Amino acid sequence: MSDCLFCKIITGEIPSTKVYEDETVFAFRDINPQAPTHVLVVPKVHIADSNGVSAENSAVVAHSFEVIPKIAQAEGLTGGYRVVSNCGADAGQTVQHLHFHVLGGKTLNLEMA
Ligand code: 5GP
Ligand code: ZN
Repeated sequence: MSDCLFCKIITGEIPSTKVYEDETVFAFRDINPQAPTHVLVVPKVHIADSNGVSAENSAVVAHSFEVIPKIAQAEGLTGGYRVVSNCGADAGQTVQHLHFHVLGGKTLNLEMA
C-alpha cells in the first residue's frame, strides 16, 4: 500500500534499523522501545491487522513465528521474551499493517490491560 508507513519501511523509502529480512518478513527496531530489545517483525505483504489473516495468507504469520525465535536468539534473549500484536483502537494499534512486537531484555511486567 502506497500510504502505509511499514510498507515504506519495507521498501527502504523510510529508513529503519533492520535486524532481519527474508522474502516474507522484515524486522527492525522500534523507534520508541518499550524494553531493552524491542523489535517489530512485519510480514512484507500488506495485511492491516489480525482481522485480515485468512487461509490464503496465514503462511506469512506462521513464517513470522518461525523467524521470531531466531531473532530472539540473535538478540540474546535467553531469559525469554514477549510477542504482542495489537488489533484495533482498543488495543492501541497505531500502524495499520500487521506486525509483531518482540520485547525482552528485562523482566517484563505482567499487566495485560
Ligand atoms: P502499534 O501501536 O501499531 O502496535 O505499534 C506500532 C509501533 O511502531 C510503535 O511501537 C511505534 O513506536 C513504532 N513506530 C511508529 N513509527 C515508526 C517509525 O517510523 N520507525 C520505527 N522503527 N518504528 C515506528
Ligand atoms: Zn503496509
